[in-house]
Amino acid sequence: MKHIDELSDKILSGERRALSRAITLAESGRADHQQAAQLLLDRLARSGRQALRIGLSGTPGVGKSTFIEAFGMMLTGQGKRVAVLAVDPSSTRSGGSILGDKTRMERLSRDPAAFIRPSPSGAHLGGVARRTRAVVAICEAAGFDVILIETVGVGQSETMVAEMCDIFSLLLAPAGGDELQGVKRGIMEIADLILVNKADGDLKPAAIRTTADYAGALRLLRKRAQDPDGFPKAQPVSALHEDGLAQVWADIEALASWRKSQGHWQKTRARQAVHWFEEAVRAGLLARLTDDAGLRAQMRSLAQDVQSGAAAPDHAAAILLRSIG
Ligand code: GDP
Repeated sequence: MKHIDELSDKILSGERRALSRAITLAESGRADHQQAAQLLLDRLARSGRQALRIGLSGTPGVGKSTFIEAFGMMLTGQGKRVAVLAVDPSSTRSGGSILGDKTRMERLSRDPAAFIRPSPSGAHLGGVARRTRAVVAICEAAGFDVILIETVGVGQSETMVAEMCDIFSLLLAPAGGDELQGVKRGIMEIADLILVNKADGDLKPAAIRTTADYAGALRLLRKRAQDPDGFPKAQPVSALHEDGLAQVWADIEALASWRKSQGHWQKTRARQAVHWFEEAVRAGLLARLTDDAGLRAQMRSLAQDVQSGAAAPDHAAAILLRSIG
């Protein structure tokens, strides 16, 4: 495939148009595009380039785009190249996206060292995950130093994003009263950094209090082998006043280099690769079931048997699974 070789070379040499073309290919639902994208990803993986992948989750209004813009500009100011990707579960339903919209990060989107890509739309969450991973791989090969993956704090999207990141952070607003209630235990267990945003003006005392509460909760909840002393960490920031962002970067770098030196970094990436392999197998099997008219008909008829009580659910499922072969 000569054009795939050419595209791959152009991406490796950092050509912006080739990057966009490759992403369009990877996001396409067409079978021939998917095949080409797989070849391309195989080729690109040989470059061995790695970026620091940082996940950032938070509910709408907490300050994600303000934070990413300020944090991204700080990094590009240090000579780094930064890609911002979004995983937006709402785009799977409405076809529209509330994340990754360039108008939310105007300064950063004009910065030649930055690249912003909204959430792929029109796919189910599994499809969004697959496409986002492809975009991550393409951006890594293109030489980006940092890849920020933004998501909203709902449902499965957080754990999915955490599975494609080296470091996962959660952005929260200062709370009054019952601080910890709004945050699910699951997310506390995967967050490396909890950033309490809007620590400025009138909100500052509440932000400091909220940070202390989360720091306490994190200490109780977990101490993992891949965490050095002091991590996971809760910290106040003000994205608006660009306050505390240098500390966030210092923490991320400290955590990343510690994990690299201890061998946790590569182990986590290897485990994530196996996770995505298994997900791809599951998705492929499911696709066979839904793409094949005969199997679909058989499934409907078996469902009727189950509904009428003529067949037990597990038995009917076994019959169908034998047909997939
Ligand atoms: P997103 O929906 O999570 O992307 O949130 P935005 O970044 O759009 O921010 C929502 C609102 O919070 C906007 O009005 C921001 O100006 C405001 N905001 C964001 N960060 C801060 C901050 O650090 N301090 C204060 N006071 N307001 C902030």
